[in-house]
Amino acid sequence: MKGRKLLMIPGPIEFEPAVLAAMGAPTTSHVAPDFIEVFGQALERMRELFLAPDGQPFIVAGSGTLAMDLAGANLVEAGDKALVVNTGYFGDRYGDLLSRYGADVTHVRAPIGQRPSLSEVEAALKSDTYKLMTVTHVDTSTGVVTDVKALAQLARNYNVLIVVDGVCSIAGEELRMTEWGIDVALTASQKAVGTPPGLALVVAGPRAMEAFQARTSPAANYYADWANWLPIMKAYESRTPGYFGTPAVNLVAALNVSLGLILKEGVETGFERHRMLSRACRAGIQALGLGQVPVSEELAAVTMTAPRYPAGIDVPAFLGHVGAGGVILAGGLHPEIKGEYFRIGHMGPVSRGDILATLGAIEMALSSSGYEFDRGAGLAAAMAAFT
Ligand SMILES: *Cc1c(COP(=O)(O)O)cnc(C)c1O
Repeated sequence: MKGRKLLMIPGPIEFEPAVLAAMGAPTTSHVAPDFIEVFGQALERMRELFLAPDGQPFIVAGSGTLAMDLAGANLVEAGDKALVVNTGYFGDRYGDLLSRYGADVTHVRAPIGQRPSLSEVEAALKSDTYKLMTVTHVDTSTGVVTDVKALAQLARNYNVLIVVDGVCSIAGEELRMTEWGIDVALTASQKAVGTPPGLALVVAGPRAMEAFQARTSPAANYYADWANWLPIMKAYESRTPGYFGTPAVNLVAALNVSLGLILKEGVETGFERHRMLSRACRAGIQALGLGQVPVSEELAAVTMTAPRYPAGIDVPAFLGHVGAGGVILAGGLHPEIKGEYFRIGHMGPVSRGDILATLGAIEMALSSSGYEFDRGAGLAAAMAAFT
């Protein structure tokens, strides 16, 4: 790792050496017995990670946006009404995506850094007959977390399918698919799941699969059609060969290793570690006198932090200074506040040391930027939060 900067953005993240080693292993046939075993295991482990014993997992080559598309293409028929619980950039994307499939989309929005209240969402659900509702668990453009458990309860009460974009949450934020009544949960390999970019990961619950089977028209996206992928996923899980589109053999092998590591740590232990690391990161940022995009502690994700720049900073130069301190962070993404904040990802195999290195690099960059603050205050606050 010498000479290499620490990658602390909201995906891709730092990957475990064993995961990268699996990526580099010789590529086998996609129907070789050893690969069938690996794919089958990865599907079983997805169910464990998503806490979805009755879910149908899908592993398809593509990015997180394809995972969103898999849910949209297979659940929407032209004219269906869809509600988007919108907390930023990825809510807008979900609305656009659903309308491509002919959905009549309504957004429930909130000011930047906030989320629609449960009563606002309920009022929307009451006002019309929706087929499905999408929720971004953590919107990566704001760092705002939604109350997925309560929203899923609302969806159940109004008999609406709930699709959770968990691309910036799954394997970091607490999410209990079956217990909470979530119909589809989805993510991508490069986020908290800890595998290089290139896999769309989806688990569909029984109600979603029933809604798919009840379609009157085929899915309007050939590559994403569950009718093509379901037999393949079932084949691999029953350890028999199947083919629709060539799977990303090396990525699936790497995913299986990463899922094994996540399950070895324990899903619950992982949730707790992410909570502990994010508390420390936010405490550090606060101690440096920086604000954050989420307007309250309750709204802040555990997978990432979105600090606001202090006044008077040379924004274009700032992330370069952080990089000189050995850490790569991300700039703003939300179009309305893009230049006002930056983003720190702390999901996946992140340690206390990574948080301290990140805060140290931020402190150095703030100093280089001429910002006046109590040097070491961020590190001290994070260390205090660890103990
Ligand atoms: C990253 C992300 C996506 C998109 O994933 P890609 O792999 O970039 O296509 C979607 N939703 C959320 C919440 C994300 O963080």
